[in-house]
Amino acid sequence: MSRPIRATINTTALSHNLRTITALAPAAKVWSVVKANAYGHGLARCYQALASTDGYALLNYEEAILLREAGVAQPILLLEGFFKPNDLALIEAYQLTVAVHSDWQLRALADYPAKKPIAVYLKINNGMNRLGFSPDKVRTVWQTLKTLPAVGDITLMSHFARADEGPAFIREPLQRLEQATATLQAPRCYANSAASLWYPETHHQWIRPGVVLYGASPTGCAIDIEPFDLRPVMTLSSEIIAIQQVAAGEGIGYGHRYTTTTAQRIGIIACGYADGYPRHAPSGTPVWVAGKRCKTVGTVSMDMLMVDLTDCPDATIGSVVELWGAQLPVDTIAQAAGTVGYELLTSVTQRVPFTVIS
Ligand SMILES: *Cc1c(COP(=O)(O)O)cnc(C)c1O
Repeated sequence: MSRPIRATINTTALSHNLRTITALAPAAKVWSVVKANAYGHGLARCYQALASTDGYALLNYEEAILLREAGVAQPILLLEGFFKPNDLALIEAYQLTVAVHSDWQLRALADYPAKKPIAVYLKINNGMNRLGFSPDKVRTVWQTLKTLPAVGDITLMSHFARADEGPAFIREPLQRLEQATATLQAPRCYANSAASLWYPETHHQWIRPGVVLYGASPTGCAIDIEPFDLRPVMTLSSEIIAIQQVAAGEGIGYGHRYTTTTAQRIGIIACGYADGYPRHAPSGTPVWVAGKRCKTVGTVSMDMLMVDLTDCPDATIGSVVELWGAQLPVDTIAQAAGTVGYELLTSVTQRVPFTVIS
């Protein structure tokens, strides 16, 4: 007995997506990006489905420790680096690989008496202007790292700001990286999901796909990943809990932001923004009801949203509704609400029960 909303996680789809991505970059190793609680899918419920990965990438110590204590033996990469000099003891104890992006971190590594060297990812800023050393400093940073006893293997890391926008936005930053690192003998790790899918020239020794593992699109547009064999991992579903026969010209929901144009049959769904459904989704956002694509009407409320069932006579109280997932790409809903699938997947709230299927 529970409210009918649930998020169903398909671990077979997750394993399948990892295999698909791995096959696209046959020469590269794969960091499965599982930050943000595996993009909202639940790290504890997902990591085993990714067991064939070469490493896991994330950014919280809590999540890294969860994986190590569960017996994960692969490398674990901290994408955002470490936050305080004191964190290095924990990084060493749990054998984590850590991004290094700022001068203070070089000083902290220089001062740290490591018993076992720590593997580092030297982060290069290729124009994202978020984290990383500028290309003209990379060689000096590299030389410094090489002299530090606390530092073990060094990999060059960078992140593309516009990999989802076309080849022109890869060529220039990639050239910048190549010039800055030409003489450095080290593995490279540059590709996020978009670069992994579309730009093999960025693959090098390691790729770092995230959102594609979960079957969503790095561009925020579902059709862009249709050519690839990727399957949605999360399905958010609920049920119709009431039906209203409403005459023409009546307002629906808060603010009456939708007015019926004819007599309409309106279904009330147990799902609202307090479950993580975007309040910005306008009337007309698709919802899958009883095997048919229907449209929302009115403002999404905290606990409910409304859907037009006029052309869906089979739908009744108790009919299963898919908000996004296997039938309805999360990116389609995100686009309607002016966001990307990443945000919706990571926004499903605590009160939604999760179920795992395989
Ligand atoms: C989140 C993240 C990724 C994965 O990005 P996707 O677009 O989900 O593939 C890769 N690298 C870094 C540094 C990240 O923060």
